[in-house]
Amino acid sequence: MRALVKAKAEPGIWMENVPVPEVGPNDVLVRVRKSAICGTDVHIYNWDEWAQKTVPVPMVTGHEFVGEVADTGSAVTEYRIGQRVSGEGHIVCGHCRNCRAGRGHLCRNTLGVGVNRPGSFAEYVCLPQHNVVAIPDDVPDEIAAIFDPLGNAVHTALSFDLVGEDVLVTGAGPIGIMGALVAQAVGARKVVITDINPVRLDLARKMGIHHVVDAANEKLSDVMREEHMKEGFDVGLEMSGSAGAFRDMIDVMNNGGKIAILGIAPTGFSIDWNKVIFKMLTLKGIYGREMFETWYKMIALVQGPLDVSGLITHRIGIDDFQAGFDAMRSGSSGKVVMDW
Ligand code: NAD
Ligand code: ZN
Repeated sequence: MRALVKAKAEPGIWMENVPVPEVGPNDVLVRVRKSAICGTDVHIYNWDEWAQKTVPVPMVTGHEFVGEVADTGSAVTEYRIGQRVSGEGHIVCGHCRNCRAGRGHLCRNTLGVGVNRPGSFAEYVCLPQHNVVAIPDDVPDEIAAIFDPLGNAVHTALSFDLVGEDVLVTGAGPIGIMGALVAQAVGARKVVITDINPVRLDLARKMGIHHVVDAANEKLSDVMREEHMKEGFDVGLEMSGSAGAFRDMIDVMNNGGKIAILGIAPTGFSIDWNKVIFKMLTLKGIYGREMFETWYKMIALVQGPLDVSGLITHRIGIDDFQAGFDAMRSGSSGKVVMDW
């Protein structure tokens, strides 16, 4: 089969012919229809420090996908050939304490599809049946293809009660905008999103986020005045990975505020911990999606009030993968969805 392979320990990604993955007794083989490019794939493309220490080469990359079941192992009972599916890209061990308690997203032994094992930038991807998620007929392929990052956003946004709350989202990348849309969909009072990239700020405006703030030129204290918010934000969603944005957020949280942190900031960055203490803030780190509660809630949201299709800025054929990676590497695209 054809696949986009991290074939060499240097920047780039290469289209190669590789064997179709072997289907074990518990596995489902998925014929990929669409697969989207994630920031993680860009790290792997760029071959940065994280990628060098994490990804063995050669590796078939990609983990955001939708497709149809092409084959099932002898022990698979839940899926049938031809069924439309996506899948959770974190493969968990099933025997650690958290897994046994039904908290798979907290597994210490998580392996990543397209990172530690062959991924979805390929004609076929193989997953344990536990990780497969059936896609209802009324969810379009291109939306199911971005369920992985949408799940990150839903997991982060639904970490705290948002109903009637004032919510600050730092970072208007695809995931930050999705998080802001989720907050608006579930009944937050005011939703404010910040970025420093004019293209991303425009995308957030186009997607209908209530208040879009250029953090390079505007002060959040002024925004609070405009929004008649006297005390501060109730909930923060950190989606930028910028230490500066996180510090700005801590400054404008109300006492007792709650912050969910998805963005990955540089190792060892500093904040004023005394503000966390005296404001009695709650900080929660977020990794991946809750298994599988996030998937249930995310599917219900897109079947209902949540429309994220405007975030897909590039719909391309797989032979144009280089253009897709170039768009993602520019830092100004929305989601890039590739057709297999
Ligand atoms: P992205 O890089 O496309 O978006 C981040 C945005 O933050 C950019 O638009 C950037 O301009 C903006 N930004 C930078 N500095 C800022 C500042 N000072 N103030 C406000 N905005 C600022 O990333 P994404 O794909 O949307 O993902 C969001 C974050 O989540 C990234 O840090 C990513 O690495 C991380 N992530 C974490 C997980 C996890 O499981 N924890 C999963 C996926 C992504
Ligand atoms: Zn485990």
